[in-house]
Amino acid sequence: MANVQSSNLGYPRIGANREWKKALESFWSGKLEEHELLSKLDDIRLDRLRIQQEKGIDLIPVHDFTMYDHMLDMSVMFGLVPQRFKYDGGPVPLSVYFAMARGSQGAAACEMTKWFNTNYHYIVPELQDAKPHLTVNKPLEAYREAKSSLGIEGKPVLVGPYTFLKLSKGYTPDQFESLLDQFTDLYAVILKELEQEGVQWVQFDEPILVTSLTKDELALVSSVYKKLHAAAPAIRIMLQTYFDSVSHYVEIISLPVQGIGLDFVHGLDGNTEQLLKHGFPEDKVLGVGLINGRNIWRSDLDAKLELLDTLSQKVKPSQYVIQPSCSLLHVPVSTAHEDKLDPVLRQALSFANEKLDELTLLTSALNNGIESVSEQLKEHNQAVAAMNQSSLRNNEQVQKETSKVVGLNPTRALSFEERRKAQQKKWNLPLLPTTTIGSFPQSTEVRQARKNWRSGEWSAEQYETFLAEQTRAWIEIQEDIGLDVLVHGEFERTDMVEFFGEKLDGFAFTANGWVQSYGSRCVKPPVIYGDVEFVNPMTVKETVYAQSLTSKPVKGMLTGPITILNWSFVRDDISRELVAYQIALALRLEVNALEQAGIEMIQVDEPALREGLPLKREDWQSYLDWSVKAFRLSTSSVKDTTQIHTHMCYCEFHDIIDSIRALDADVISIETSRSHGELIGSFEEHTYDHGIGLGVYDIHSPRVPEVDEMTQMIKRALSVLDPELFWINPDCGLKTRGRDETVAALRNMVAAAAQYREVL
Ligand code: GLN
Ligand code: ZN
Repeated sequence: MANVQSSNLGYPRIGANREWKKALESFWSGKLEEHELLSKLDDIRLDRLRIQQEKGIDLIPVHDFTMYDHMLDMSVMFGLVPQRFKYDGGPVPLSVYFAMARGSQGAAACEMTKWFNTNYHYIVPELQDAKPHLTVNKPLEAYREAKSSLGIEGKPVLVGPYTFLKLSKGYTPDQFESLLDQFTDLYAVILKELEQEGVQWVQFDEPILVTSLTKDELALVSSVYKKLHAAAPAIRIMLQTYFDSVSHYVEIISLPVQGIGLDFVHGLDGNTEQLLKHGFPEDKVLGVGLINGRNIWRSDLDAKLELLDTLSQKVKPSQYVIQPSCSLLHVPVSTAHEDKLDPVLRQALSFANEKLDELTLLTSALNNGIESVSEQLKEHNQAVAAMNQSSLRNNEQVQKETSKVVGLNPTRALSFEERRKAQQKKWNLPLLPTTTIGSFPQSTEVRQARKNWRSGEWSAEQYETFLAEQTRAWIEIQEDIGLDVLVHGEFERTDMVEFFGEKLDGFAFTANGWVQSYGSRCVKPPVIYGDVEFVNPMTVKETVYAQSLTSKPVKGMLTGPITILNWSFVRDDISRELVAYQIALALRLEVNALEQAGIEMIQVDEPALREGLPLKREDWQSYLDWSVKAFRLSTSSVKDTTQIHTHMCYCEFHDIIDSIRALDADVISIETSRSHGELIGSFEEHTYDHGIGLGVYDIHSPRVPEVDEMTQMIKRALSVLDPELFWINPDCGLKTRGRDETVAALRNMVAAAAQYREVL
């Protein structure tokens, strides 16, 4: 029998009950002293290690824990503290660390951005003032701690030099090579010290290797790893890739490292194909990323064993290390508290702890023979099968409808140009119409009312009366401000996806399925477990009520199919494309219900469209095509005079403009002022010929912008966009703002529009 090891690539930081988040937030609000925080975090960190040890994982990651973000940890370890934080050498104090993450008096926080195509956000390293040096060997500390406290032979995890530098900013392309040299030297020092300590494996995360690199770039990657290997030849380096298949398989497997970690979930086809074609070096370990680190479902372990069997044509099983596809940071901690869910559904779930069980089960099957674990495998696979066969997942009507969609090309009856004329006649809006993006402030009062209702203290009727009252007040305010197109204010919604998930069939909500989004912020995505079906109208009552209070048009407000999809955990037994169509069909019924109830302006928000783009450029078009189709499925059945709006938050436009146009929304609104109008530039090269509103003020700040600032923004926009198509609106929804600042800002916005209309 083989001697196969199991490994983990990273474990959630947040704790089974979000203890981590609570500790950090108590510290920030002054309720915990620094030493109290540190001691709480020590406990959480050791707990995580203990769990992995108890589960029997052979290679347990260390240095994957953080007090905020692992990229920020790397920056701080290299002393990369921008000047504005006034740090002058030595170990970086906690206050500076958190200031970089969250900003402080007088120093803006470092930029935060998405970690590849996940919903995790990292702090972008800034190199402009940098003199990279090693302030402390954190991986060594983490290794020592695991060893002395628990006897664990830990595997330090670091973001690899190439990915680290690629994700940093504050340097010009011609500085890249010399910076890479400097950083590689620092990594080499870390490695040497780890080697002296007797460390066996080190994991370098290089997810950038799943994107396309040029020949020169590959040569640089190769020279980095040559140097690192030469610096600490006794250490075994696991070069870890994830989120897709590697783009340059042959070059990557020949790097001078001792292990290559490949993602056999999100890069299944590409990696399998290349491995079978080109083989795999006999002197390396293959980290087989088998268990999905980004989804919450139990795996079909028979299929995993089959895959291992296939790979064994080219790789000896003794070369395998069985691991998740990526760090488990992207999944919740444990299903232990999910006893309110349907038992069939609960049994089909697998969060981080359960995924570790899957890993060790597979490893035992390899080491001791399948017979030795046949009972457990059977039980496991039965749970998966029960879910797949369950009526929860099999709504024949929906499946029939969805299969019809595949060959369809849903379009509006008339072209945009023709619709525009019809709509202009119907709505008779002024030039540069003003509107908002949907939500108005969710004041403490609103949140308290929701709590009262959820706890049973208030009856449903009481709560609804309260909501109606809010809408009535804000309709009055909007009329008073002089906005042209009004909204009901979204007071009944906490979250734009959860709200719809709770009303559609096929969604479930976990008790404790939290994952880290950024810093201490965690989200609890809905679970799309079954066929999605429309049950009852979801937004008609509130919208119709709002419309009854005014003669101005009120826009209906829905979340689009792709955003609902991308912000949920999605079943993995059918394609994401089909799930998107199911959601789209349900939304189509809502759109029709709104229209029938007399709501003839309807906004379908798609802020998450862009973030769903695959990592490989060549896969973009197919994703965009079915996304556009899903959007059109939801919105194309309406009358010519019904005006469909959509909204995206900040969305780089230039490289997907054809797809944005293909959405065929009558009006789109996009965030632009936070990026200081950068987006406007894209319209110099690309024409956009549908209605468009570029947010004229930043809603992320309580500051009330002056009329002048907004006219400046309008002026810039109109230098590239047709005034007949231009709308005036804020960047995004206003739910996080206060009432007074919102009213003042909108007054200024309406004044800016009025001033400009006179000029035109
Ligand atoms: N209609 C939503 C709102 O106004 C849009 C939110 C978003 O774009 N993220 O809150
Ligand atoms: Zn937005």
